[in-house]
Amino acid sequence: MFKNLWNQKNEKLFINSLGKSKYDFDLGSRVYTSRLIGSIPDLVMHGGGNTSCKTNKKNIFNETIRVICVKGSGWDLETIEAEGLPAIKLSPLLELRKLNKLSDEDMVNLQRANLLDSQSPNPSVETLLHAFLPHKFVDHTHATPFLILANLPNYRKIIEEIFGSELAVVPYIMPGFDLAKKAADIYDLQPDCKGLLLLNHGHFTWGETAKESYERVIKQTNKVQKWINKNLNTKKHFQKNLKIEKKELSFLSIIRGDIEKNSKDYNFVPTFDIRNDKKISNFLLRKDLNVLAKRGVASPDHVIRIKGNPLVLSKNFNEKEIVIKLNNFRNEYINYFKINKRRFKNKLKMLNPNPNVIWAPGVGLIGIGGDKKGAALVADIAEQNIHVMNYGEILGGYYPIKEKDQFDIEYWSLEQAKIKKTNPSLIRGKTVLITGAGGIIGREIAKVFNGEGANVFLVDKDLKSLQETHKLMNSNSTILQCDLTVSTAPKLIINSCLQMFGGVDILISNAGYAIESSILDLDIKTLKESFELNFFSHFNLAKEVSKVLINQSVGGKILFNVSKQAVNPGKNFGSYGLPKATLMFLLKQLALELGEYNISVNGVNADKIRSGLLTPTMIKKRSQSRGIDENQYMTSNLLAKEVEAKHVAEGFMSLAISERTSAHVLTIDGGNIEASLR
Ligand code: ZN
Repeated sequence: MFKNLWNQKNEKLFINSLGKSKYDFDLGSRVYTSRLIGSIPDLVMHGGGNTSCKTNKKNIFNETIRVICVKGSGWDLETIEAEGLPAIKLSPLLELRKLNKLSDEDMVNLQRANLLDSQSPNPSVETLLHAFLPHKFVDHTHATPFLILANLPNYRKIIEEIFGSELAVVPYIMPGFDLAKKAADIYDLQPDCKGLLLLNHGHFTWGETAKESYERVIKQTNKVQKWINKNLNTKKHFQKNLKIEKKELSFLSIIRGDIEKNSKDYNFVPTFDIRNDKKISNFLLRKDLNVLAKRGVASPDHVIRIKGNPLVLSKNFNEKEIVIKLNNFRNEYINYFKINKRRFKNKLKMLNPNPNVIWAPGVGLIGIGGDKKGAALVADIAEQNIHVMNYGEILGGYYPIKEKDQFDIEYWSLEQAKIKKTNPSLIRGKTVLITGAGGIIGREIAKVFNGEGANVFLVDKDLKSLQETHKLMNSNSTILQCDLTVSTAPKLIINSCLQMFGGVDILISNAGYAIESSILDLDIKTLKESFELNFFSHFNLAKEVSKVLINQSVGGKILFNVSKQAVNPGKNFGSYGLPKATLMFLLKQLALELGEYNISVNGVNADKIRSGLLTPTMIKKRSQSRGIDENQYMTSNLLAKEVEAKHVAEGFMSLAISERTSAHVLTIDGGNIEASLR
């Protein structure tokens, strides 16, 4: 059940933040309850739903103009601000109701032309529906209980039972002018109703105050929820929680690689978001998954996010099945496009024919997006859809919009206009695994890659510093505290990375630690410990990552933080230089053996960077022993400039984007002839 979260004090805060006029009062209360609605994913999700208010606004001549403030595109109800509810002159919008036809382009243009602020975002495509209803505040949601009801064949009887004549029903029409007109006509015939059920789409309600409208959203949604609960209890259609074998995650690499190879025209690198709670795993045990997969989406705009159908794997799927099914899915999608595009005069651009959602019994629901954030958004909507399906099927049947209507939304001219040719990016959407990510250099590397649009999987032994790095990242990131020298570490890292992102594209094997000692004083135990972290941990992780990259079969990059020690030894750094020199050899050997898989292996030799390896005390000691000041010490290179961690990060980035470089070591030390390679 949904809780009424309205609170007078909080409403006041929103109103006061805007100003003292009546307009500010209306808009402030509108922003406040819009946010209340947006805060509950089961009411609206990811830019879905919209709200409005009709009020008066003064123009520059101090004339009072009747306006409607309605959610602008690109805004989310959860975080909406006053600017997200642009004001449009109301009377020209109302005039439109006299027309018999209006194209989407003309509608958008007219809405824009009547904005009070020309800088505003485009008002929602559902603006006219809000405008044609006479009420001051109007709220539109895609609440899960209403979506269940809106897709049931026996909706009329149920509405009668729950609402009597309080709720009017609007047949399915694609959002826009025609739907707005139809909804207004239906309201006119039933002017005492307190809300509208838009079949196969969602819910509208209204009020004289923002509070009244919001409380109706909650009350009416709860009425439906109550009916659902009551009727679910009396039916024992739930699946038993059958045990099925837990799958190894390596199959994800096959899916990911196959989708990437077949998405070249779309510059798309897939990232996964896997969901598997009890409700989902039970749903995935249904015997009629293949039938349900063909039914379609719970609300029209979902099709833009999750496509009309998911790809369904069988309970005992294997690699062969994955490849065949992905191929079939694409062929079916191309066919669907070819058949439906004939109805359109203008040329349509086909969208990526790969699935956005996969139902994988024993694994879960997989949302697929261009980065972690995008994949999570897809998974959220796909998850809501399976709940609507599951409950709908128990309560009488899930019958959403037909394929033709689905196509009309998916290839809507307004959506097609949004498709922009994106430049191929060698980093955006890629998944980058970075070790030693809590350290100074690791943190800079993470910042550079995450900033360029990569998903970053950050590993470090020290949780505190790792969390500090994480704070600097956007939502396309995750952390794993892990000691790389433990034998189970590589498998744990790879499995967590697959679970989180679905794969990996670039390894930046960066973790390292140095102990100062002369060779004569160096005991075997210390040297072995140094080899564990500075060589074997790189060796083991690189091997595991290579397996994933080979499975994905779309190439990849392995980058090592070597060290100038590998070629130019410094006094008392033998225990560090020995494993690092071996690491440089590993780099070359791997480059030689992985080239045939289009995997390049490179490294960075950096020197004299303020970091965990070169602490302030060490800088002080060394500069003193050389009889120079600290600044002179740090800038003693050919360019006479201090080399910082960010320069090392840039070096890794340049290797990550070079497409024809392998077995190469890039030196970043401001220039040092003795340490130069060739
Ligand atoms: Zn809607």
